[in-house]
Amino acid sequence: MSQPASESPTIDRPRMDADIVCVGFGPATAGFLFTLSKQLANADGTPAVESAVAPGLPPQVLCYERADDIGFGVSGVVTKARALRTSIPEIDKAGIPMAAPVGDEKMLYLLDPVGASRRSSLLRLADKFVHAFQWALPFERDALNLPWTPGFLHKNGGMVLSMGQFMQWVGAQVQNTGTVQIWPGTPVSQALIEENKVVGVRLLDQGVDKQGAPADSFTPGMDIYAALTVVGDGPVGPVGQQLDEHFGLPENHHARDWAIGMKFVVDLPEDTPLKPGTVLHTFGYPEPEIFGFLYVHPDRVASLGIFVPSWFDSPVRTTYRYLQHWMTHPYLWHFLKGGKLRSWGAKTLGESGRRGEPHLAGDGYARIGEGSGSTNVLTGSGVDEAWATGAQLAEAVLELLKAKKPFTKENLEATYAQRRRASWVEQEARAAEKSRDGFQHGVVTGLIGMALAGLSGGRLVLPGKPLRPWERIPSLEDYFRGRVPPGEAQKIRDDCYARGVSAHAALMERAGWPAIPYDGQLLVSHQDALLVGGKVQAPHGYADHVAFVFPNECRRCGTKLCVEVCSGQAITPGENGVPNFDREKCVHCGACLWNCASASPENPERMAVAFRAGTGGLHSAEN
Ligand SMILES: Cc1cc2nc3c(=O)[nH]c(=O)nc-3n(C[C@H](O)[C@H](O)[C@H](O)COP(=O)(O)OP(=O)(O)OC[C@H]3O[C@@H](n4cnc5c(N)ncnc54)[C@H](O)[C@@H]3O)c2cc1C
Ligand code: SF4
Ligand code: SF4
Repeated sequence: MSQPASESPTIDRPRMDADIVCVGFGPATAGFLFTLSKQLANADGTPAVESAVAPGLPPQVLCYERADDIGFGVSGVVTKARALRTSIPEIDKAGIPMAAPVGDEKMLYLLDPVGASRRSSLLRLADKFVHAFQWALPFERDALNLPWTPGFLHKNGGMVLSMGQFMQWVGAQVQNTGTVQIWPGTPVSQALIEENKVVGVRLLDQGVDKQGAPADSFTPGMDIYAALTVVGDGPVGPVGQQLDEHFGLPENHHARDWAIGMKFVVDLPEDTPLKPGTVLHTFGYPEPEIFGFLYVHPDRVASLGIFVPSWFDSPVRTTYRYLQHWMTHPYLWHFLKGGKLRSWGAKTLGESGRRGEPHLAGDGYARIGEGSGSTNVLTGSGVDEAWATGAQLAEAVLELLKAKKPFTKENLEATYAQRRRASWVEQEARAAEKSRDGFQHGVVTGLIGMALAGLSGGRLVLPGKPLRPWERIPSLEDYFRGRVPPGEAQKIRDDCYARGVSAHAALMERAGWPAIPYDGQLLVSHQDALLVGGKVQAPHGYADHVAFVFPNECRRCGTKLCVEVCSGQAITPGENGVPNFDREKCVHCGACLWNCASASPENPERMAVAFRAGTGGLHSAEN
């Protein structure tokens, strides 16, 4: 096998010096740069603080984003927008495309109209009760509209946003200050670490083969040296992973809970009754563990999708197929029938929250956003929190720059970490920290645990020990027991794998799920969603960013969860048991990183597959 150029110490690399370098341009880094960029120069253009690498100028701030453009690949959201409004008081009147104030909010329990969902006896009893008393309940089209939901779930006064559109708007504001450069299409391959100090980043090599070895037109990635490296690369970011490996996590912290969120952006039918700002949240169907959402933007556009969590113990947890079953639930299909797919995408949500918090700062670096454990796992809110942590870091950095103090761990902890600890982000994250532990024992206990934690501010919780994702994947036989005879389930999978395709569709149909009635508009094949909806692209000359780094584990693996879950059908069954990866279909959702049935032989908190820095993926800012 060829040697990756990124690991060779002999390659002569171009070098550049900056004051601050940022990894990723998601909401966290947007909050950081928005706050920082406004305060680096005085109104007359003179520096408010001076650069160490370009004396006489404001600090040189660079931000590298992996995706082809700003806002390609983050998700559509509803947010309370507290931190956003603090930073951008005029946000409601700023003319951000696809933004709407939150209007009607509903929480719906979806019953199973097809009889294929796996429901516990408790849920079946609840379903019978709902059916029996439907005449007295707010029940329509197989859905119960919960008459009361706890206040902590509400987003009153908040906003429905397209993150793609919002991020493009913020990117323009930041770059218009002239103090910050954002470089999309430029993945950071790793942090540069010297004697436990982060001294900058290395950009991805170009002109390499699939393994990263130099090929035609080899261009080594540049090394950017900076006094401060800001890491905001999200829940599955490779630089965050590298820092976690190098510095470890604080005691008792771990990132074992995840979900994959998959989303459609659709044109609703012309006569839709749904008003802009409508927010629907669902649970109960297509499987009890799967949560769904639908948010309405102006001009009859809606963002809708589902989350499939790591604690949904299925060896065939396919998000795309479940999303289609969710869309065709009678309650939702009533609104969606006649609609048209505009855009599609998938993304990992880090569901460990504060328990997954790494060291927030070290010598030369600081962590912000979801990769720093900021997402509130009780309220399912990540954008506002990510932005807030970025803004807090910006204030801390300005304080240190003005005081001419270095970016040491001690100084960053006394300014950034201290601000964060004193803020609502920390207080709410603490209340949320154990709120989802009940899901380790089932959906009903999980929901009760969330309600208890939410209503008591985290003082009451139902206990549960989060397992590592690879510890909880059942075998095909166990999962389909009573629905598909063991020998037959195995045979179906063997037949599919012999044809080089995943087996979830065939297995689900055998287990009673109806075929999806494709309409070419909204119910389209996975490949059409990839090409038409996600407009997925992959520039040539880059290494594979998904790698099966322990092939012996793959050969032994009877589950092949990575094949079944892959959001882009980029991972397919391969020869000798080691899957194939097709970079041109990858949407960079990061699900393969944690949807693996085997532990890394080197670290039980990691799995047998690597998810590294890479280019391309979703090519649309509508997400
Ligand atoms: C389907 C879905 C729906 C959601 N809905 C909501 C919602 O309704 N409300 C809400 O508040 N939150 C929601 N969230 C959560 C929210 O999207 C996240 O919490 C938020 O985006 C986190 O922001 P971030 O900046 O920390 O990370 P991210 O948004 O993940 O941004 C990280 C950025 O870093 C880039 N990057 C990664 N690696 C590299 C690299 N090596 N080099 C350069 N760039 C890199 C990525 O391309 C990305 O742009 C949802 C999440 C999903 C998946
Ligand atoms: S990557 Fe993980 S799930 Fe996929 S084949 Fe290898 S061991 Fe199995
Ligand atoms: S290969 Fe790409 S699309 Fe498939 S799960 Fe991994 S990151 Fe997602």
